[in-house]
Amino acid sequence: MKFLTSGKVKDVYEFEDGKLLFKFSNRVSAYDVKFKDEIPKKGEVLCKFAEYWFKKLGVPNHFVERKSDTEIVVRKLNMLPIECVVRGYFYGSLVSRWKDGKISLEDGTQTDLAAKLPSPIFDPTTKSAHDMPVNREEAISQKLVTNDEYDWLSEESIKIYEKMARIADNAGFILADLKLEFGKLKSNGKIILADEISPDTCRLWDQETDKKLDKDRFREGLGGLTEAYKLVLDRIKNR
Ligand code: C5P
Repeated sequence: MKFLTSGKVKDVYEFEDGKLLFKFSNRVSAYDVKFKDEIPKKGEVLCKFAEYWFKKLGVPNHFVERKSDTEIVVRKLNMLPIECVVRGYFYGSLVSRWKDGKISLEDGTQTDLAAKLPSPIFDPTTKSAHDMPVNREEAISQKLVTNDEYDWLSEESIKIYEKMARIADNAGFILADLKLEFGKLKSNGKIILADEISPDTCRLWDQETDKKLDKDRFREGLGGLTEAYKLVLDRIKNR
């Protein structure tokens, strides 16, 4: 097994058969900045979260098996250079972009902070050092994806968001938004779900208390990240 790369949160190794090992660390990053202090057990919770969703979602994905409390084995893909954000609520960077007139919303959309959108929207970004929002025309002219791929990713990402939001709702949470990544199988070019799915890559709010149970806790200095993530994992696991 050889070391490939170290991301903000995961370390990646490659096996001789070409599969990859994702090792989830306890590192924390937000707004493209790595923080100095680590958070105990965060890696374990992220790892089990990823396993839970990849097994639960019933869509083709890169997950092969969980190797330990902090490691999963996945298939190696040619990753698509686009981050597939789906939003169900008026929140996050959507708010400032809307205020700056950079994005328009469907007629009748409520623009109170954290209001539910009339329907989920696909709102992708580039996958560069600083992710930039891209619309369909930009994604295609920048050759991030083809027309057909954009349509497929948009439809599939919204379907996955809706499925996850239903499961989260049954467990007493609101899944406000999420970010998904996809890649192509080297053998036949088929696009499948990849990367990780965790409270580092989505927004989850407790229905009863309105508490944020995702990385916004860290972004806003609320603390208790591992406890929040564990609570979500434990409650969602029974759904
Ligand atoms: O910050 P923004 O509102 O654009 O984020 C939308 C969603 O995408 C959030 O759930 C956030 O956690 C996720 N995201 C991510 N990785 C990024 C940017 C956003 O997982 N690089």
